[in-house]
Amino acid sequence: MSDTLFPIIVVGARGRMGTAVIRQVMDSEDLVLSGAVDRSGGPGLGKDAGIVAGRPETGIVIGDLIHDARGAVVVDFSLPGNTHETIARCRELRRPLVLGTTAVPEETLDLLEAAANEIPIVHAANYSVGVTLLTQISALAARALGEGWDAEIVELHHRHKRDAPSGTALRVGVAVADATQRDFADVLVRDRSDRDRARGDNEIGVFSLRGGDCVGEHTVMFFGEGERLELTHRARDRAIFAAGALRAARWVQGQGPGLYDMVDVLELNL
Ligand code: NAD
Repeated sequence: MSDTLFPIIVVGARGRMGTAVIRQVMDSEDLVLSGAVDRSGGPGLGKDAGIVAGRPETGIVIGDLIHDARGAVVVDFSLPGNTHETIARCRELRRPLVLGTTAVPEETLDLLEAAANEIPIVHAANYSVGVTLLTQISALAARALGEGWDAEIVELHHRHKRDAPSGTALRVGVAVADATQRDFADVLVRDRSDRDRARGDNEIGVFSLRGGDCVGEHTVMFFGEGERLELTHRARDRAIFAAGALRAARWVQGQGPGLYDMVDVLELNL
């Protein structure tokens, strides 16, 4: 392996996102695949990670443990039940982590914060550059529009997505609530089917549609009197998330311990 190449270890190597990350690592000029990990006893184990990703052999066989590799960054797109293991292992090896897995349980988020005192971690519900901008622009719009405008969020995803609403929709909701001095947990509405009253002034509705192979769409609507502002992001290919995660991996290797998100990576802090 050349000293000039920057090593990446992929967790969830057989999955939709893991294989997208591996393909982009193989296509890049500055990155090299240094490890590939998937579920213990799973069907990908022992196979070449490049072949599993639909590319030529890499010589990297999918295993069930993150190995120690000097200078490597770990990129995890697996399942929420696995993330505590990835965090613990990165902490033990003192390796930076880019965590893409969503719907991570509360106790794992506590582990993540504790680990971030010792290693740099990027955790984003959505690694798309466009979605990161959507979030920031939605906060700006909410702040500029102020009172008298009702915010609602609609998200669409493929039929296999397990969590609803999406982590991204919730993150956008938090940004809108924060920008208007509201606590998102107090104003979030996920269902209006069991009530007989008009919309409350402060509510932020978040609704999910699921079907087909839709990669991911998010629309934030601001309803005023006589006008409506809509901000939409449409993902056509999950390669955008892989590209964003690898941008985060390149960035995080130079950072000190801390918990970062894509807003930090793109230096978009308002
Ligand atoms: P997937 O089901 O296709 O892949 C998950 C992979 O993780 C599988 O190969 C599975 O075998 C593996 N896995 C399960 N348990 C494991 C373990 N204990 N150790 C190692 N690997 C394990 O799912 P996907 O569509 O690739 O999505 C993966 C995650 O990434 C989900 O949480 C999804 O919501 C999230 N995601 C995040 C973003 C983002 O931008 N943050 C974008 C897309 C998907």
